[in-house]
Amino acid sequence: MALIVQKFGGSSVSDAESIKRVAKRIVETHKAGNEVVVAVSAMGDTTDELLDLAHDVTPIPAPRELDMLLTAGERISMALLAMAIRSLGHDARSFTGSQAGMITDARHGAARIVDVTPGRVRDALDEGAVAIVAGFQGFNRDTRDITTLGRGGSDTTAVALAAALDASVCEIYTDVDGVFTADPRIVPLAHKIDRISSEEMLELAASGAKVLHIRAVEYARRHGVTLKVRSSFNNTEGTLVINESAEERAARVAVETKDGRTVEEPIIAGVATDLSEAKITVVGVPDVPGKAAQIFKIVSKTNANVDIIVQNVSAAATGLTDISFTLPKSDGQRVLTALTAEQPDVGFQNLQYDDQIGKLALVGAGMRSNAGVSAQLFEALYDAGINIEMISTSEIRISVVTRADTVNEAARVVHRAFGLDGDAQAIVYAGTGR
Ligand code: ASP
Ligand code: MG
Repeated sequence: MALIVQKFGGSSVSDAESIKRVAKRIVETHKAGNEVVVAVSAMGDTTDELLDLAHDVTPIPAPRELDMLLTAGERISMALLAMAIRSLGHDARSFTGSQAGMITDARHGAARIVDVTPGRVRDALDEGAVAIVAGFQGFNRDTRDITTLGRGGSDTTAVALAAALDASVCEIYTDVDGVFTADPRIVPLAHKIDRISSEEMLELAASGAKVLHIRAVEYARRHGVTLKVRSSFNNTEGTLVINESAEERAARVAVETKDGRTVEEPIIAGVATDLSEAKITVVGVPDVPGKAAQIFKIVSKTNANVDIIVQNVSAAATGLTDISFTLPKSDGQRVLTALTAEQPDVGFQNLQYDDQIGKLALVGAGMRSNAGVSAQLFEALYDAGINIEMISTSEIRISVVTRADTVNEAARVVHRAFGLDGDAQAIVYAGTGR
């Protein structure tokens, strides 16, 4: 008997009909002789609607209460799903995050799972029931409060359960056929990837691909959980996320040249875009040792997630330089306030804030040794008349920052330039992409 964890996202359970459809699907897996644990998200755009509601009540909702509110969304879907399964003649039991033993740290809105004690889930399975667990929520032992794992966190719930219960696979059911070479809502000719390494998946998720929550990919990688992303609207195979070692990757990208040398072929996994970031420029920083350290110490104290950092050459005449960095828009105000407070001490001239940027990342194994990839990327953007404002690279990723209103077009031209365009338009089955 295999134990399978299945996660259903909000767009797969957006109304009563979809809940019944998902229930049938779960029952099929159960009937085939598997133990089934389900992690479920809130129905449709419920989480966004609850967030809107909170902000209608107060501009800055208390984090503890916000978590209390948002976790209600998953309580609704888990109970309805359990009812639907029971009505099909199979036993099913729903559990909140804390009942399922999802123990987290105390950070409201961005809690990390520190332990999983799924005793009650295990008992339900032993009694032949399907266990339904509310995604995205946990419990902190010290504060004894309810927490949430951050937007999209139900994926992480599913993976953590899969790891704790030693599941044979963790299936993430969504509103597209799997992981695509780009978001099909932005690049209609994106095509489905059959297999992707967790390393590439991590870079894509970190660069804005929303198909999988980044923490879920990290968690799966760390705990050796096999992840599969597939559509809840049909039976196509989906995408397998494989845990590839450095040696396996080297073997995958290795190609032999005519003269018998082995070189790395830059295999491109895909393109991701992100419109959720902003850019801060610290203007007129004295170009002397220690200033960057001072600035980023201030920034790091705010817990902001800094991404790309660029320092310009200093003007010889003034000995001043500019340092720019990107960060989530939601961290912007906090960082500006912190830097402003320390302005006299650091001695910079002023701060510029730009929230009209877009980030594009091209991800693929074997890029490191291929300067040609960057050249081809820049060329494609140049041909489309798109200006690049910042560049950063990792071993398997090149990221550029452009104007926000050009980033989607940038994704389409880069996708085409790297030969990723498929033959047909990708299908998005549901969801508002909100
Ligand atoms: N319902 C939560 C959200 O919309 C968690 C999830 O969908 O994974 O972010
Ligand atoms: Mg959701």
